[in-house]
Amino acid sequence: MASTQPEPTTTDAGIPVESDEHSLTIGPNGPILLQDHYLIEQMAQFNRERVPERQPHAKGGGAFGRFEVTGDVSAYTKAAVFQPGTTTDLVIRFSTVAGERGSPDTWRDPRGFAVKFYTTEGNYDMVGNNTPVFFMRDPMKFQHFIRSQKRRADNNLRDNDMQWDFWTLSPESAHQVTWLMGDRGIPRSWRHMNGYSSRTYMWVNAQGDRFWVKYHFITDQGVECLTQQEADALASADGDFHTRDLYDSIRQGMLPSWTLKMQIMPFEEAKTYRFNPFDLTKVWPHADYPLVEVGRMTLDRNPTDYHAEIEQLAVEPSNLVPGIGPSPDKMLLGRMFAYPDAHRARIGANYNQLPVNAPVAPVHSYSKDGAMRYDKSSDPVYAPNSKGGPKADTERYGEPAGWHSDGEMERAAYTLHAEDDDWGQAGTLVRVVLNDEQRDRLVSNIIGHLLNGVSEPVLQRAFEYWRNVDKDLGRRIEKGVRAGQV
Ligand code: NDP
Repeated sequence: MASTQPEPTTTDAGIPVESDEHSLTIGPNGPILLQDHYLIEQMAQFNRERVPERQPHAKGGGAFGRFEVTGDVSAYTKAAVFQPGTTTDLVIRFSTVAGERGSPDTWRDPRGFAVKFYTTEGNYDMVGNNTPVFFMRDPMKFQHFIRSQKRRADNNLRDNDMQWDFWTLSPESAHQVTWLMGDRGIPRSWRHMNGYSSRTYMWVNAQGDRFWVKYHFITDQGVECLTQQEADALASADGDFHTRDLYDSIRQGMLPSWTLKMQIMPFEEAKTYRFNPFDLTKVWPHADYPLVEVGRMTLDRNPTDYHAEIEQLAVEPSNLVPGIGPSPDKMLLGRMFAYPDAHRARIGANYNQLPVNAPVAPVHSYSKDGAMRYDKSSDPVYAPNSKGGPKADTERYGEPAGWHSDGEMERAAYTLHAEDDDWGQAGTLVRVVLNDEQRDRLVSNIIGHLLNGVSEPVLQRAFEYWRNVDKDLGRRIEKGVRAGQV
C-alpha cells in the first residue's frame, strides 16, 4: 500500500528540518538564535518572492494551449507553425495595461493578448491587444503615454486630467480612445474578446515572395462586454473576475478557443494604399483586405505555479521565426528592443532559460554566463571557430525578411498616404459600426470620464477632439459635461 505520509520538509538545500512550527530559542521564551538557518531561509526567501512587476500590463493571467492549422496559407508564409496540418503548443497571457498587479480586472483599459508559440523553428511570439489599433504611431511617445495613464508624482493618484491632457494633445489617439470608451473597452471576460496583432508584420513564402499581414484572433465564444455599471460593481466585489473566469472555465473543461484569421496585403500595394498600412492608429478595412482563415487556438491547461509560468513569462515581438518578419511600423520596431529589455531588467539576462520561456527547438547560441545561468555553455565560446561550434546556415536562413529603405537621417512623421488623417477611422467607428444604443453608451462613458477631475482648458480641447471625430458626438459630449450629467 502506498504511504499516505507527506514528504519530510527540507531546506532549499534538501536538508530535513526539525520543525515547521517552532523557531530555535534559548528556553521556550527566547531569544531566537541566528543559527536557525531554516527560519532565516524562510524569512529571506519571502522578502525576495516578488520580481518587479511589469511597467505596463502588470495585472494579468494566462493559460497553456495549442494552435491547429485548419486553412492553407502556405502561399503566403513558409513559417512551420502555419503549415497545413501542423499543431503547436503555446502559452498566452491576458492583461490590463495601466493598473498594478493588484488592480481590478474590470477597469476600462485595453487588454494585452500575448501568445508564445513553441514552434519547431524556435519560439514565435505574437504580442497583441484586444484592439486593432493603438494610441500612437511613434515609440518616442510611448513612455510618456504610459506615465499619463498611471500615477501622479505628488499624490500617487491616477488622474483623468493627465490622461485627457495627453490624449487631446495627441490627435492620433482618437481612434483608439473612441474604441476604448465604447462597449469593447471593458470585455465581459478574456474569453469574450478578440485578439489583434494590431501591428503589421511581414510574411515570406518558400519562393521568397513577401506580404504584409495583420492577425485577427476572433473569439469563438462571441464578443461580450460589461457596461460601466457592471464593471464598477465587479471591481469592488471581485477584482480578479477575469483571472477567475479563465481559470475556472479551463478547470471545468469549458475550453475557450479563437479562430485566427489574417488580412494579407501584397507587398507592392503598401506604397500606394489609401492609408499608410504601417500606421498603428489605423485598421485595414475588411472590404479592402478580407479575413483569411489560418487555424484555431484552444486553451486547455491552467498554470500550476502562477509565478513561474505567468509572472515570469517573457513574450517579445522580436521573436520572429523564418517566414515571418517585422514591418516598417515604428512602434513595432521600437518594441522589438523594449520587450526583451524589460525581461532582462525584470527577470534577468537568462530569462529564456526558464521552462516557460525555453523553446522546444534546440538552442545553439553563443550567449554565456550572467546571473542565474542554468544551461551549461561549452567551448568554443566564440565564432568563427575551427573547433566545431555552431555555424549560421546562411544558405538556408541568410535572407532577412526586410524591405528597401533609403533617405536622409531625420526625425519625421510618416509620409502621408491619400486618406491619412487622425479622425476618419474613428468617425467611421462612431457613425457606421456603432448602433444608437452603443453610441449612447459611448457618449455616457466619455462624459462620466470627463466629469471626473478634468480641468477647463483640457475639457475645451476634449470637446474639440470629439467634434473632430464626429460633430454630433462632440456636441452631445459638451452638452452632457456642461450639464454635469452622464
Ligand atoms: P467592417 O464593418 O468590415 O468591420 C467592423 C468591425 O468593427 C468588425 O471587425 C467588428 O468586430 C468591429 N466592431 C463591432 N462592434 C464594435 C464596437 N462596439 N467597438 C469596436 N469595434 C466593433 O468595417 P471596416 O473594416 O471598414 O472597419 C470600420 C471600423 O470598424 C474601423 O474604422 C474600426 O474602427 C472598426 N474595426 C475594424 C477592424 C478591422 O480590422 N477592419 C477591426 C475592429 C474594429 P467583429 O469582427 O467582432 O464583428
